[in-house]
Amino acid sequence: MGYVIAIDVIAVTITTLAVRSTVSGPNSGVRHSEWVAFAVLAAASVLHLEAARGIERRREMAANTSPHTNLKCLWIFAALLLLPLSLVIPLVVLAYAYSWFRVYGRTVAHRKVFSTATYVLASAAAAAVLRGGGLVGAPRLPTGFWSLLVVLAAAATWWLVNYALVIGAILLSNPEATAREALGELSDQLVVCAGLGLGIAIAAVQTSYPWVVPVLMVTVLALHRDLLLPQYQRAAGTDEKTGLATSSYWASAVPVELARADTLRSTVGLLMLDLDKFKEINDTYGHPAGDEALRAVGETIRAEVRQGDLVARVGGDELAVLLPGALETEVLEIAERIRERLVSLVVPVSTTNGGTAKLDGIPASFGAAVYPDVADTMDQLVLAADDALLTAKRSGRNQIIVARPNPPAITDHPADKPVKD
Ligand code: GH3
Ligand code: MG
Repeated sequence: MGYVIAIDVIAVTITTLAVRSTVSGPNSGVRHSEWVAFAVLAAASVLHLEAARGIERRREMAANTSPHTNLKCLWIFAALLLLPLSLVIPLVVLAYAYSWFRVYGRTVAHRKVFSTATYVLASAAAAAVLRGGGLVGAPRLPTGFWSLLVVLAAAATWWLVNYALVIGAILLSNPEATAREALGELSDQLVVCAGLGLGIAIAAVQTSYPWVVPVLMVTVLALHRDLLLPQYQRAAGTDEKTGLATSSYWASAVPVELARADTLRSTVGLLMLDLDKFKEINDTYGHPAGDEALRAVGETIRAEVRQGDLVARVGGDELAVLLPGALETEVLEIAERIRERLVSLVVPVSTTNGGTAKLDGIPASFGAAVYPDVADTMDQLVLAADDALLTAKRSGRNQIIVARPNPPAITDHPADKPVKD
């Protein structure tokens, strides 16, 4: 809290100083061309935010313990090269206020205020680098090797200041977040680099050929979709290889279903399944063939369950099926159906030596557990299903074992054993 407020206060101070220097500094006043550039950049950034609204909303929801990056910096960095800082800051505020109203659903105001503040600090630092490098009057564009270095240094500074401030906030507010999570994905940071690079291009075009800016807008909007696709997929929690839910999505969905079952006094069935001797497929036909088999298994299982059931890939060849509302008998029926389908599954695959082959049957072992019959928590439920799966593997594979609270499903019944004299 103290950290966030301190950053906010510094941002307000910078804003005050920037406005004062524009009003009464040595180069006071804003030129007509700067007002025009301001209006163009403001309109373009609002248009961009509006067009990318759907994508941004999903991405924002997915980012909680990692820095949330976006392409807003493109307009801000273009502004830094064309406008005095006192006009860059209103653009930052406009972009965040607009997205607060239109994109994020007016919920996380304090986070948006903080993001606005980090942008102001990053912009002030980048403006200082530009000034220090001798690029004083607008447009501050690369016209030679030295000015290119200065502009790139300003962009790097902008990125670093913003990134460092955001990571600081994440680490302070989520002490349990690992450094890896806080640093986020490289692809997210590439989004920022793309934004800064495009910002330089937009500033140059706007200076020499302003009527090309609308053309570049088309590029920006088209790029937004593809550039953000990896995050979009992550946000959707989809495993790229199989199209099933990812284990992180799974981990967030299970507690919700358990809570719902509590409210409705209902049950939740869980199936954990692990393909049998899957490594042999890889060893015999190659890894790509194994991937095709995994995909086919995922499709088969999805086809066997209802819309509201969740199928996830929780490990290499380990899948999980969550069956809200299912009783033990239903869970076992579904498991048996899946088991039979997998045993008779025929998958044409390409082999590593360039040929093709047909996999005939991809058997799996199953562990089943039902909440709240055998467990009170998600961890207990998963453990119970995993234990049952292990038992299924140990007792011959290609079978279903259900977890029972007491006694365990498979016990060594003395009566089953041959009696020795
Ligand atoms: P078991 O019956 O004991 O489960 O035998 P297994 O060979 O399936 O062994 P295990 O489940 O321990 O190992 C899973 C194997 O699955 C290891 C790896 O070769 C393979 N695997 C894991 N992830 C992938 C993947 O994404 N693609 C492919 N092709 N293979 C994978
Ligand atoms: Mg296996």
